[in-house]
Amino acid sequence: MSIINTGLFGSFPLTVDSVNEAVRGLGAGAYALGYRSEDGNSFYIQYVGRSDTNLNARLLSHANEGKYLRFQYAFFDNAIQAFNKECWLYHTFTPKDNYIHPDKPNGVSCKCPFGCL
Ligand SMILES: [Zn+2]
Repeated sequence: MSIINTGLFGSFPLTVDSVNEAVRGLGAGAYALGYRSEDGNSFYIQYVGRSDTNLNARLLSHANEGKYLRFQYAFFDNAIQAFNKECWLYHTFTPKDNYIHPDKPNGVSCKCPFGCL
């Protein structure tokens, strides 16, 4: 699973300081949480998600939760783009902690790019 590049920035340590350093400003975004291989060359994804409005705040809540070691992220222009990326991550990596398909953004009309909802 680590052979495919996620197209996200990082990975970075999933700590409050590190999130605030890397993920600046408000906006929609998608992210992956996980850990690095010992040689640092591979990133193993355990969970993927997105925020439609405030990626920084979402990642800070994960940092405070303390369940995962590292994160990757990318900002997008809007919630639909972030949702499309989240779906791609979900279907490509099938992260073990994502029990259900990503939710669509509220108040907009869009479909999973893989055609499943
Ligand atoms: Zn889908």
